[in-house]
Amino acid sequence: MVSRVVFGRGSFNQLDEIISPKRLSVKAPFIFLVDDVFKGNSWLTSRIPLAYEDKLLYISANEEPKTSQVDKLVEDIILTSKERPSGIVGIGGGTIMDLAKAVSIMLTNDGESKNYQGWDLVKNPAVYHVGIPTISGTGAEVSRTTVLTGPDKKLGINSDYTPFDQVILDPELTKDVPKQQWFYTGMDCFIHCIESLNGTFLNAFSKSYGEKAYELCNELFLDNNLTPEEAQDKLMMASWHGGMSIAYSQVGVAHAMSYGLGYVLGTKHGIGNCIVFDHLEEFYPEGVALFKKMKAKNNIEIPKGLCDNLSDDEFNTMINVAMGLEPLWENAIGKNWKKVITPQKLKDLYQKM
Ligand code: NAD
Ligand code: ZN
Repeated sequence: MVSRVVFGRGSFNQLDEIISPKRLSVKAPFIFLVDDVFKGNSWLTSRIPLAYEDKLLYISANEEPKTSQVDKLVEDIILTSKERPSGIVGIGGGTIMDLAKAVSIMLTNDGESKNYQGWDLVKNPAVYHVGIPTISGTGAEVSRTTVLTGPDKKLGINSDYTPFDQVILDPELTKDVPKQQWFYTGMDCFIHCIESLNGTFLNAFSKSYGEKAYELCNELFLDNNLTPEEAQDKLMMASWHGGMSIAYSQVGVAHAMSYGLGYVLGTKHGIGNCIVFDHLEEFYPEGVALFKKMKAKNNIEIPKGLCDNLSDDEFNTMINVAMGLEPLWENAIGKNWKKVITPQKLKDLYQKM
């Protein structure tokens, strides 16, 4: 679990006070990885407490993080820093959260990041790392994974060293998220709840968090009665609770299939989950019915026809990536999932998307 967290509008202003005691020396910089959507946004960037040899790196969130990108960042940081960094601070959405976690791990572990995609392969503790989300829903701020696309798979570095040492939850940072993106990333949270609450791995720990996040999502995406500030606060907490819920259980069918879309077509996580979930009545009847209501209520269009022109090879890759995520299928369907989920079944579903 994340060991330290602060919450509140304006809590971003505490960043200096929080990280200063963690500075190892004047030569050991803090590296700030910041979503480049904030370039030129002095409201946010003027509050980043740069000192000594610290570096601010703007990073595009247009594409999801790749293992090669992580390795390159780590190499650049090592080459340009006099000493091993005091810490990594990620400021952005799930993309930047995951990059910050992965970079902090790879600064203390040998080799390439693709070798750590999987479960519990990390040997050494990461450098101190801080997560500051600016969009809510993924739960990446609280989770024990960092999802990376590698040369042969899309899979997280899941380890006890992955979670942030410190998270700053300042809902005000999410105030300018565009509406479509708000919905797609928010639905990631809703889908986490549905997949966790309907999974075979469910337990009292996951259930308590999942139910709270589910309740908040219903309020957020179906009620009209919230002020923007209340909505920002609540979605940030829904994201946290949704992430906590899957921390001790697992996601399911939508995530497994969305990883396949992401791997072959580069479809981003939030929108990919929405595209897939729209067709999963068979697995999650109540959840999908609610999702359709939320979509209509918020006037959101989900892209169609993504798989119309795929070759057989591309379908096969997509299906292999999805079926490779065994824990997700086992959570969704049970130990005998291979009797229900066949390559043809997945192809039929993908063809509808
Ligand atoms: P994102 O980080 O990809 O950002 C989406 C868009 O929103 C980007 O264009 C970004 O620039 C913009 N944005 C972010 N904050 C903004 C703000 N305050 N104002 C205006 N624009 C803003 O989106 P996401 O949905 O949060 O993250 C998706 C990523 O998270 C994927 O790479 C996915 O694999 C990963 N993920 C990780 C976990 C985990 O547990 N580690 C869980 C779910 C998803
Ligand atoms: Zn997700």
